[in-house]
Amino acid sequence: MFIKELIINLAILCSLIFLYTQFTKSSPLKKTSSLQKKLLIGILGGLFSNVLMHFSINIENAIVDLRHIPVILLAFYGGSVPALTSMLLIIVGRFLIGINTSSYAALILIVLITFTSIYFSNSKLSEKVKIFLTMTISNIIFTLVISYLIRDIKILMVLVPLYWGISYLSGYFSYYILTYLRNSQELFDKYKSESSTDGLTGLYNVRKFDELFNTILKNIESKDEMLSLLYIDIDYFKKVNDIYGHTEGDIVLKELGSLLKKSTRSFDIVSRNGGEEFTVILLDCPLDRAKEISERIRGNVEKHSFFLGSGEQISVTVSIGVACFKDTTKDSNLLIEDADRALYVAKRSGRNRVCVAKN
Ligand code: GH3
Ligand code: MG
Ligand code: MG
Repeated sequence: MFIKELIINLAILCSLIFLYTQFTKSSPLKKTSSLQKKLLIGILGGLFSNVLMHFSINIENAIVDLRHIPVILLAFYGGSVPALTSMLLIIVGRFLIGINTSSYAALILIVLITFTSIYFSNSKLSEKVKIFLTMTISNIIFTLVISYLIRDIKILMVLVPLYWGISYLSGYFSYYILTYLRNSQELFDKYKSESSTDGLTGLYNVRKFDELFNTILKNIESKDEMLSLLYIDIDYFKKVNDIYGHTEGDIVLKELGSLLKKSTRSFDIVSRNGGEEFTVILLDCPLDRAKEISERIRGNVEKHSFFLGSGEQISVTVSIGVACFKDTTKDSNLLIEDADRALYVAKRSGRNRVCVAKN
């Protein structure tokens, strides 16, 4: 009953593709992936094909299977290396079952299908046309090989059309599932990263800042560690937008983001809390050290030439408010309020300066 076997094969394909996408979810196979990764995924694809080979579909006493589907998909996404690797494993697997005319025919078949897949995967055609042509030519190759093996026209009249149907159905089915899972994963990763990072500067956003800061506060009392917080705001930033435009302003914000990262320690938490306001959480950092870091940031910004898109170079300055748990306040919950107030004092007293919260 070939329908039953076909359903089993589609179910196997579906499960294997799902397992495959879970296995490669952190970095899906691409033509630019490392050689090691291509070989590893090629081996995995070859094993999948061997599984499919063992769940063959019986039509008119001829045995067909879907072993070529993983090869086509591997060539499509990863190019020649994974496709050839899986092809070799399919050949080895087939010869382990037995050495006879059909195994040699199967060898020719898979070699031709693999090279066709590689050829089309490298072409400049659209994705859908590539897949269609690869599957159609694979079906033609199958027809030629099977017509040579089975010279009974009555069997071929049933077998060939059914095989074409099965091959198109399983090919498109697999392509659809794999593309769907890959796209969903990509979107999931993108939204996950956007939910915690600021799109412009790549720093943490205010939501992530709140989350991290609250977690740090929960542990700080028991740890007996110092904790400092810097509130940083660009001076007269509105003028930059007014004179050079909003897009150039964005360039300044982006460049300031990287300057802040460079001016702090690798484990400090730098965030853009909104507009032209940034924060730095300095873990295990007493007030003296926090003041030093703040002065370094202020000086680095003052000295820095910001290159605008127009080619012009401009300078900006920042004002910084510093608060430190245990040195300026014994209540860690007041850190944000104190740093913000210190920043306000820095602004009021002339800008381009560092002010420490009063204890
Ligand atoms: P102060 O020294 O008192 O901080 O003056 P300021 O001009 O920096 O402060 P103000 O709060 O008056 O203006 C902040 C400006 O920041 C206004 C707004 O147009 C600009 N801004 C906020 N977010 C963005 C952004 O994402 N991109 C750009 N280009 N500008 C932004
Ligand atoms: Mg400002
Ligand atoms: Mg501001």
